[in-house]
Amino acid sequence: MIAEFELIARYFTKATPNALLGVGDDCALIASGRTIAVSTDMLVEGTHFFHGDDPFLLGKKALSVNLSDMAAMGANPRWATLALSLPEADESWLEAFSKGFMMQAQHYEVDLVGGDTTRGGLAICVQIMGEVDAELALRRSGAAVGDEIWVSGSLGDAALGLAHLQGEIELDEADAVCCLKALRDPVPRVELGLALCGVSKCAIDISDGFCADLAHILERSKVSAAVEFSALPVSKTMEKYRTSPLGERALLSGGDDYELCFTASPEQAALVEAMARKLGTRLSRVGRIREGEGLVVLDEAGNAKKVGDAGYEHFR
Ligand code: ADP
Ligand code: MG
Repeated sequence: MIAEFELIARYFTKATPNALLGVGDDCALIASGRTIAVSTDMLVEGTHFFHGDDPFLLGKKALSVNLSDMAAMGANPRWATLALSLPEADESWLEAFSKGFMMQAQHYEVDLVGGDTTRGGLAICVQIMGEVDAELALRRSGAAVGDEIWVSGSLGDAALGLAHLQGEIELDEADAVCCLKALRDPVPRVELGLALCGVSKCAIDISDGFCADLAHILERSKVSAAVEFSALPVSKTMEKYRTSPLGERALLSGGDDYELCFTASPEQAALVEAMARKLGTRLSRVGRIREGEGLVVLDEAGNAKKVGDAGYEHFR
């Protein structure tokens, strides 16, 4: 079996052009003249993924979910650390996992500058750091009354994929492919987050469910919101399930979307639409920020829908 230091050298030591010093010393050294945005996200077997899940996609997703936090802040990702707890040093698993992680790191020009490796249950903890202008950062507290609420991409596919794996629904093959891709290989909206700096003041990434994550914005910004259910963007697959109870739950409260929900004043709408065209990313206006508190989701007749206890929470 491969030894700890050999493992680190073989799989997790790569060139770090963004850093003064990368893997191999007691600390990494990084320098920047800008404000640093820092975030950590952990994936634990049995909680965030299944035993036996594809290691390449796991490595990629471990970085993607952290990149999504950078996107939600409008930060430019630059450095990451990786703390790994492994039941054993399985080289074929490590080979595939590190390939997925490093491929995504290279794509977004993020340097892996350090980490930790220990024996234990399978858990993957990534810390990511990026650069942002403090005044332009997309804060949860940045929503203002009158702002329009936007969502990138489409919602609910990952939750449908999970429901399919758990036997709650049976998707046909083409639908399963699309929903399982959404679940296992989410695309972080890094370019969108960067483009939104100066156009929007407020964003969050939708990881725990649309309603739950929008509620975080409302709470921090001390405002309320009205959202039109029919305006929520869905894929062709999700469209088929949208009116079923399970589909509605996936759309409003399903986790793992990793889309951005952001707000912008109506004067910025044309800019946002131009941005959508330029990035080739679907951006949908789904509602409006109002005075007061709480979130209402309106049906086509303009009546408030009953929204179940929204969002994923670990300790409930
Ligand atoms: P320490 O004993 O100071 O914690 P380690 O022996 O754990 O150092 O790690 C040696 C070097 O390898 C350090 O630079 C550390 O940041 C890096 N490292 C350890 N595990 C990983 C990993 N999974 N990915 C990237 N770098 C790692
Ligand atoms: Mg260590």
